[in-house]
Amino acid sequence: MAAEVLAAGGVQVDLFDAMPSVGRKFLLAGKGGLNLTHNEALDGFLGRYAERRTFVEPMLRAFGPQALRTWAQGLGVSTFVGSSGRVFPSDLRAAPLLRAWLHRLRVAGVRFHMRHRWTGWGDSAVAAADAPPTLRFGTPAGEVHACADAVVLALGGGSWARLGSDGAWVPWLAARGVAVAALRPSNCGFDVARAGVDGALQAGWTEHFRSRFAGHPMKTVALAMRAPGGRALAQAGEFVITQGGVEGSLVYALSAPARDTIAHDGQATVHIDLQPGRTAEFVRDEVARPRGSRSLATHLKSRLGLDGVKAALLHELLPREVIADAARLAAAIKALPLTLVAARPIDEAISTAGGVRFEALDDALMLRELPGVFCAGEMLDWEAPTGGYLLTACFASGAAAGAGALRWVTSDRD
Ligand SMILES: Cc1cc2nc3c(=O)[nH]c(=O)nc-3n(C[C@H](O)[C@H](O)[C@H](O)COP(=O)(O)OP(=O)(O)OC[C@H]3O[C@@H](n4cnc5c(N)ncnc54)[C@H](O)[C@@H]3O)c2cc1C
Repeated sequence: MAAEVLAAGGVQVDLFDAMPSVGRKFLLAGKGGLNLTHNEALDGFLGRYAERRTFVEPMLRAFGPQALRTWAQGLGVSTFVGSSGRVFPSDLRAAPLLRAWLHRLRVAGVRFHMRHRWTGWGDSAVAAADAPPTLRFGTPAGEVHACADAVVLALGGGSWARLGSDGAWVPWLAARGVAVAALRPSNCGFDVARAGVDGALQAGWTEHFRSRFAGHPMKTVALAMRAPGGRALAQAGEFVITQGGVEGSLVYALSAPARDTIAHDGQATVHIDLQPGRTAEFVRDEVARPRGSRSLATHLKSRLGLDGVKAALLHELLPREVIADAARLAAAIKALPLTLVAARPIDEAISTAGGVRFEALDDALMLRELPGVFCAGEMLDWEAPTGGYLLTACFASGAAAGAGALRWVTSDRD
């Protein structure tokens, strides 16, 4: 995006990437349907960036969700609003959009240098006095140095390293005095623990539950938890049982407060509502109805439609005496406590929290410690839920960094 803005401003752009081709994570994002942005009103949209809203807002006001849709349309890719308000390309795919975009960038004169892994700064003495430091690249042909009037870094976060973004840049910026918040998983899954027979917490699911239900979706449930600071959070949706825990969109939605609670307290408790469309009173009355000679499983299935993975999860997480007590069982169906003990590793996460702190950047996204070097995308210290908010802020910050770099190279600084 920065390359596009700079090339449109008449500047020669050289784009380096470690991988054999660009946009690999963008293409991966398109696998499950490229959720480009979201259709909600701008104020709600901006709220998704939580405490980073102040920093992200100016960029999104300059290049926001509607601008992104118009931009895609300009590349011949129309978009539509899905039932949840999420915005997708009409064919859901990322590849046609990326292909058209790369073609337009090449026509605009952008030169692509693939398999160029930035490995840090070169000899500063080589660069002109007010220019950014030279860049060192590892390439199949050996080490290459490059210098430029302005540099835009868009190195991504630390997830899915095999697609290129490995977070290796953190120490190279930190060594130049740039404040970088530790990279952490965002929109990630979690490992769980449950009480064993002796009451002590045991990691993961029982073998019985894991072997039958890993990979099973928990459809239309709700999760509730207290965020650090005490704010009550609740959301309905779906998640998936994994080999040792939980993942999926509903879990991702609570992943930032859950991750932060675990970092602070060692664990986080979320409460699962297995019947979000029904009141606690209704569930209590249905569970309490006489069941005669019918088994509890048949009773729960016929009264509440609870069977399969949901019924199994009750048995997995509740002590026998609670299962046997209609009132306590009914309460647990509406608020089943699940203990999360660890966020899954950053490499598995959808996105990364942490990164270059906004305090280290000026309004044009230029590093205060490295004049002429700009930063954009997921490597900046913001996070947001899934729903198109990630890509939108990446595009917006790319456009902002490109505009800043354009002003930098075209202004007369003397
Ligand atoms: C499975 C999955 C699905 C997703 N789906 C969506 C979605 O539907 N909607 C959404 O909004 N977001 C989605 N995301 C998140 C979104 O893809 C990212 O937030 C976005 O791609 C980040 O863009 P970026 O340009 O900042 O970083 P990246 O896309 O990670 O790109 C960084 C680039 O920098 C290069 N690089 C890194 N280090 C070096 C180096 N040292 N030298 C040279 N090159 C280097 C990498 O090779 C890479 O090409 C998804 C993510 C995942 C993992």
